[in-house]
Amino acid sequence: MRARAPSAARAAVACALACLVACSSGGGEESLARAPGASVAASAAAPLTSPSSAVAPSAAPSAAPSAAASAGAPPPIAEPPAPRISAERARELLFPEGLPAGASCAPDELRCWIALRYEADPKARELALEMYAELGDVVGLERAHAMDGGFRGSIRIVPELPIGPHRKHLQAIAEAQRASARVYAELERRAGSALPYRQRALGWRFFRSVGRTTPSAYAGGWEVGFNVSGSLHSSPEAVLETIVHEVFHLNDQAHRSWSRRVLGPLSDAIVARCGTRIDCLRPHAPMKTLVRGGTYYAFQPDNGDSAHEYAAELATRYFLEQRHALEGHDAPPPLPGAAPGRYKCGPAPNAEAWRLLAEEFFGGVDLTGPCG
Ligand SMILES: [Zn+2]
Repeated sequence: MRARAPSAARAAVACALACLVACSSGGGEESLARAPGASVAASAAAPLTSPSSAVAPSAAPSAAPSAAASAGAPPPIAEPPAPRISAERARELLFPEGLPAGASCAPDELRCWIALRYEADPKARELALEMYAELGDVVGLERAHAMDGGFRGSIRIVPELPIGPHRKHLQAIAEAQRASARVYAELERRAGSALPYRQRALGWRFFRSVGRTTPSAYAGGWEVGFNVSGSLHSSPEAVLETIVHEVFHLNDQAHRSWSRRVLGPLSDAIVARCGTRIDCLRPHAPMKTLVRGGTYYAFQPDNGDSAHEYAAELATRYFLEQRHALEGHDAPPPLPGAAPGRYKCGPAPNAEAWRLLAEEFFGGVDLTGPCG
């Protein structure tokens, strides 16, 4: 969820049957506030394949594509920085409690700091080093804090490194990040130009929620908080879906809350017509995620701006359908519980939402077949 609300709307969701993507900007915001500026850092350009992030122009509302450059248009609030986490922020992520005494790593030798952080678990160390080398991602720790969990009260968050029994989460994230990098690289190739979408050079803040299984994850400022006891993380594929969802939130923030500005009217119209009725919402539900006792996560009331969640779920559905097409399938992927078939082929406004998303973030590329 958003960078806007300090709390956790997102967290607010209890996990349901299937799962639920518990992103909350709450924790993210708090942490970011504690580490001013650090968040995302970056400066220099980076060799990380996606020159994309720099693509602020495309971040302009699609309705007024040329406006961004003109004096009359508001400047992007959060123009994505060049995709590299600064050495300073990386060290904070790795050692939020302070650098260990006697460490001999040079300040900018991130590989050395990463190796030091994970020295207790050589396999995890290898994964963390690979993620840094391949993606520019830095896998570190959340700081201990109390998160406002909305109606569920305060949630105690404590740092928890993904080593030992928790290493599987690091493995799943590494696989998910590699898989999504491949898909976006292929979309970028087909688009013929850099996508205004940053998927790499992310900071990962691992934590555990004491006595709870939510929130599963949250995102803000090019960083993702990840709960080793998150209820959503039941399989590598579930982790991938959560990550695609969260990474979209980061890009949505960088595109000045595109989801509210552009997709909001469509999302609002669906909610105005269906309310929380699951049978009415299902043809519009990009993903199956339901909130226990509530409705589809994409349309759940009292969970922040539902346009943000609808957009993140739509981006996840878009990812899954593009990946499926890239794997050579003619038919759409089976996604029981969500809108059946190809999402864009459902009732209005599905096709328009699909097109707007693809145009804003993915160069208008759509590898899924025609309807009918
Ligand atoms: Zn979300």
